Amino acid sequence: MNIAIHAAAAVMTAMSLTPAPVRVPAYGYHNGTVMIDVTLSRAYHILADPLRPGISCALHYPDPVKMPSDVPIGSGLWGRYSNLTACGDLLYGVQRMWDMLRDWLGRDGIDGAGGGVPARVEWNPPAPAPVVDFVFHPGGQNFPTELDLVGHEYGHVVYRTTPGGAGDDNETRGIGEGAADIFGTLTEWYANNAADPPDYVIGERLELPGGLPLRHTFDPGLDGHPACYGAQIPGAEAHAASGPLRHWFYLLAEGDQPGGGKPPSPICAGGPASVSGIGLVKAGRVFMESLQRKTSTWRYADVRAASVAAAVDLYGPADPACVTVKAAWDAVSVPPEPAEPAC
Ligand SMILES: [Zn+2]
Repeated sequence: MNIAIHAAAAVMTAMSLTPAPVRVPAYGYHNGTVMIDVTLSRAYHILADPLRPGISCALHYPDPVKMPSDVPIGSGLWGRYSNLTACGDLLYGVQRMWDMLRDWLGRDGIDGAGGGVPARVEWNPPAPAPVVDFVFHPGGQNFPTELDLVGHEYGHVVYRTTPGGAGDDNETRGIGEGAADIFGTLTEWYANNAADPPDYVIGERLELPGGLPLRHTFDPGLDGHPACYGAQIPGAEAHAASGPLRHWFYLLAEGDQPGGGKPPSPICAGGPASVSGIGLVKAGRVFMESLQRKTSTWRYADVRAASVAAAVDLYGPADPACVTVKAAWDAVSVPPEPAEPAC
């Protein structure tokens, strides 16, 4: 397939005077060799997605990378420290996320209106710009452009482009971090790439000391974060405050004892004896629909109410989604809301 596409690209290079979409290989550090959509303009590849408006990769804002079309995009392991390799990984990840949003969640583009936001790859923390930044990870050994981290960073864009925006309340921002991990997880499962097999941990390819991932969704306690909702959440650091949300989402999708090589997940004190998951895609749909009910001061109690209403709207009160959404909240110590619909 790659050879045919190369040949087609070569023909188009000779012919094309107006920019045209091409699908070309990128040699990623995280993803192995993958196909990405870029723009062919005369004899150059421009790392701007011709099919997904607003998506591009820049090393120097605001211009997307422009490189001779016969130069490979990225160079795999050799390119461990290459920001061009990171651009290839990044475009692959955000293109998979875009397609996941369309195919699984019914959302049009990252922003819900058919658009996206440019990305920028940087060695050092850069001056602010209206881009999604991927800065070389000082604690790890590479750029944070693996699938779940691309899905996480662009998940923040999904979060802030749903009603209520990103919010400025501490608990709301914590919920935003949890939402970003949910989108990262969905992106990794949708891509289903053997070079980065889908799982329920975040940032496992950063090569952090000790080989640990950044975060676990199935048990935030493994990260030193609260797994259960409690009085500490409103004042907690945002990633820590996200613990109950990512834990809830895992229980909703997979349950507490999923088997099949998937890790068990703890149930907080006072919760149900067990939770049976409704599956990742269905859980993702419930969460996406919940975000349509977001406000700028979203707290966990509001997320619970929104997700129960979303499950009933999507699947009806008799579907297992309704009782499972409630059971999973009970399992992370977020109590029933007074106005909650019955299942
Ligand atoms: Zn984040």
